Amino acid sequence: MNPAFGKCYLVGAGPGDLGLVTLRAKECLEKADVIVYDYLSNPQMLRWARPEVEAIYAGKKAKDHSIPQGGINQLLIEKAKQGKEVVRLKGGDPFVFGRGGEEAQELREAGIEFEIVPGITSVLAGPAYAGIPVTHRDHNAEFTIFTGHEDPTKGETSIDWKSMAQRPGTKVFLMGVERIGAIADALMEQGADRETPVAMIRWATTARQQTLLGTLGDIAKKVKAAHFQAPAITVVGPVAQLREQLQWFETRPLFGKRIVVTRTRKQAGELSRQLEELGADAYELPTIRIEDPLQMEDFGYLVKDTHTYDWLIFTSPNGVDRFFDLFFKIYHDARSLGGVRIAAMGPGTANAIRKYRFAVDLLPVEYVAEGLLEAFKNEGVENLKMLWVKAEETREVLFEGLSEQGAIIDRAIAYRTVPETQDVSGGMARFREEGADLITFTSSSTVEAFLALKLPLPESLQIASIGPITSKTLRQNGLYVDIEAREHTMPGLVRAIREHYQPEVEEA
Ligand code: SAH
Repeated sequence: MNPAFGKCYLVGAGPGDLGLVTLRAKECLEKADVIVYDYLSNPQMLRWARPEVEAIYAGKKAKDHSIPQGGINQLLIEKAKQGKEVVRLKGGDPFVFGRGGEEAQELREAGIEFEIVPGITSVLAGPAYAGIPVTHRDHNAEFTIFTGHEDPTKGETSIDWKSMAQRPGTKVFLMGVERIGAIADALMEQGADRETPVAMIRWATTARQQTLLGTLGDIAKKVKAAHFQAPAITVVGPVAQLREQLQWFETRPLFGKRIVVTRTRKQAGELSRQLEELGADAYELPTIRIEDPLQMEDFGYLVKDTHTYDWLIFTSPNGVDRFFDLFFKIYHDARSLGGVRIAAMGPGTANAIRKYRFAVDLLPVEYVAEGLLEAFKNEGVENLKMLWVKAEETREVLFEGLSEQGAIIDRAIAYRTVPETQDVSGGMARFREEGADLITFTSSSTVEAFLALKLPLPESLQIASIGPITSKTLRQNGLYVDIEAREHTMPGLVRAIREHYQPEVEEA
């Protein structure tokens, strides 16, 4: 093999759920120079790639081949010959009806080194996510996988339908949604029972998963009635029925709900993950981003003098991070903070403080400025020196209230929130194209920045707000509030959304 050539990795992308990608696949994506991916591999995986990667879509919805197969092989060979590390990303497992075998043969012929990274095939993952065990001791001791690509009514078929129909056990086939009638007929003609349960699972393991349950006798009619379309896996056999007892994926509380997260790119992940855990199809549309304050120098002086204050007040996790980033640039010893006591406006902020191994001395009962004022009133702050670490554009309630209580308060402006105008996550384009079921706002600034983007609002879009201040901003801007969190935290917001969609759920 020519040492100047790069290597080609034929990588299984799994069935769609990002959590079902192997560690090896992720490693390959992280170092690739070129990634050639197809229609069944989740494009979100490209996030793991280096920013300068060359990502090439090789399409392939039946009939509409973006690049013909021969072209794909040529492309892989050409890029590898240029010394590049090439990843050929294929849905499911590369060797299960994915032409991975043919690609490997051509690579070998061209003298290109390759590696095969198996993936979780849709053959197994689809039934599992539909609540169907492909084997079960009460029902079968074998299962057969075949392609539904060939039309049994045309002479060309290479499948022996007679032995297929008479085979015991579960049968799973890929492709062929539009031939389901012909395939079911072929099996029944050769003696399969028309009452045999059949399940079809489309876009398995993704937020778009849909499952259709029927029998060999009626599945074709059901497919038509439901306008059920490819891509789908079909399971034939008594185990398909077990879904009625074992389904779990489609019954999660937020399953299939498209929920937009508008926080900064850095912070969005936390909320999206919590929503995804409940089955939501969460996508990020960052509307704001954090920048240095205009008077960065002033911030520096105040951070440096923190030890001269009695109280240090944080009202956002961003403020906490900005403060400690700078603090530890100035000082190399945590004790330089002195004896200052630390207050946080809410649990998110408090957690951010604890990450730096500082304890929180004061946390209000109500997580808003008014709540914090109340808490300080009980403490007594007369003549005490306070440093409030804040965003440039916050309300003045806290400053005025504490001044009234007799405190001497300085404002350390740690950051500015500016509108995010670039579509960093692709979320803006997605929102424009297909809208969403719900949009979440976690601060007034996200509301204002979102409105400034002037995106069209889908008619049935619902709106969730983290609390009364954000809700007020929404209403002032002519919007409505469908959901408002009772506890003004990310988990509180997630709970409110869950209760909205599943009102019968009683929280302990
Ligand atoms: N190598 C792939 C299969 C490629 S053939 C694998 O191992 O899964 C393409 C067929 O796979 C589709 O027509 C469909 O039948 C099936 N398929 C792949 N991913 C799927 C998914 N997420 N949901 C339903 N079917 C899927």
